[in-house]
Amino acid sequence: MTQLDGRIGPEPLNPAFSSSALANLLVGRRGKLKSVLLDQAVIAGLGNIYVDEALHRAGLHPERPAGTLAPEEVRRLHRAIRAVLREGLANRGTTFSSFQNGRGEAGDNLMNLRVYGRGRTGEPCLSCGQPLRLATVGGRSTHYCSRCQPAVRDSSS
Ligand SMILES: [Zn+2]
Repeated sequence: MTQLDGRIGPEPLNPAFSSSALANLLVGRRGKLKSVLLDQAVIAGLGNIYVDEALHRAGLHPERPAGTLAPEEVRRLHRAIRAVLREGLANRGTTFSSFQNGRGEAGDNLMNLRVYGRGRTGEPCLSCGQPLRLATVGGRSTHYCSRCQPAVRDSSS
């Protein structure tokens, strides 16, 4: 893929956005996975809700350094990103451009949310039953499951 100077990353639902394209975007990055995914210069159109949902589906901790993902983890993430976007589109019934403001805070009922908004009250993870957590990652509220999305190192902060 050509890297343009416009600083807008590829759209995840574009057929050219393959798993290996995602791997190329993440390689060498030390930033936290969540922050990197929210960066519109890396990937276009992923808002806060979608990133939380995608990371939970992929079983990846939001604070993992983005460049440390194994190939199989990148594949899971790639699948999860496309799945949550497709689901959001289906439920909203509108065009992809609606997702491009990068905030994605509005409309909690756009999709079947598995983690977003549920960490604040410690509701049980729909996959494992453990109370979900709320953290702040890169200044953004972040809902996740510490069991399904383990940090690689065992530092809990
Ligand atoms: Zn869980």
